[in-house]
Amino acid sequence: MADDCLFCRIVTGDVPADVVRRGNGMVAFRDIAPKAPVHVLVIPERHVDSMAGVGGLTPDERADMLAFIAEVGRDEGLEATGYRVTTNHGPDALQSVHHLHWHVMGGTRLSDSM
Ligand code: AMP
Repeated sequence: MADDCLFCRIVTGDVPADVVRRGNGMVAFRDIAPKAPVHVLVIPERHVDSMAGVGGLTPDERADMLAFIAEVGRDEGLEATGYRVTTNHGPDALQSVHHLHWHVMGGTRLSDSM
């Protein structure tokens, strides 16, 4: 848990979120400002700042994270139609929340500029 981290506070429940899946040290919740009909964020419960800090997670956590993302895509009914998974690190990528998170987006034909 990092002090003043919004997503750590979602993990603890101090900040409310629309949680769609939880388990194996991961949490998935709906983005507050969705950019697609389905826009879910997947985060590890343990704080790392971004993709650049993924070495701070255990090999099991890293593996579980990928499997968890795929489960979210399936649970959201996106397997047949498709979905996109992205993560932003740093200013050039416009990262705005500094707790590693994966955007899982789908439910429409996504723009090639997203
Ligand atoms: P990024 O720009 O990659 O750091 O993405 C941060 C994402 O977090 C954005 O898509 C925001 O809309 C989303 N976000 C910010 N605050 C919240 C919140 N309280 N609950 C859910 N999503 C949030």
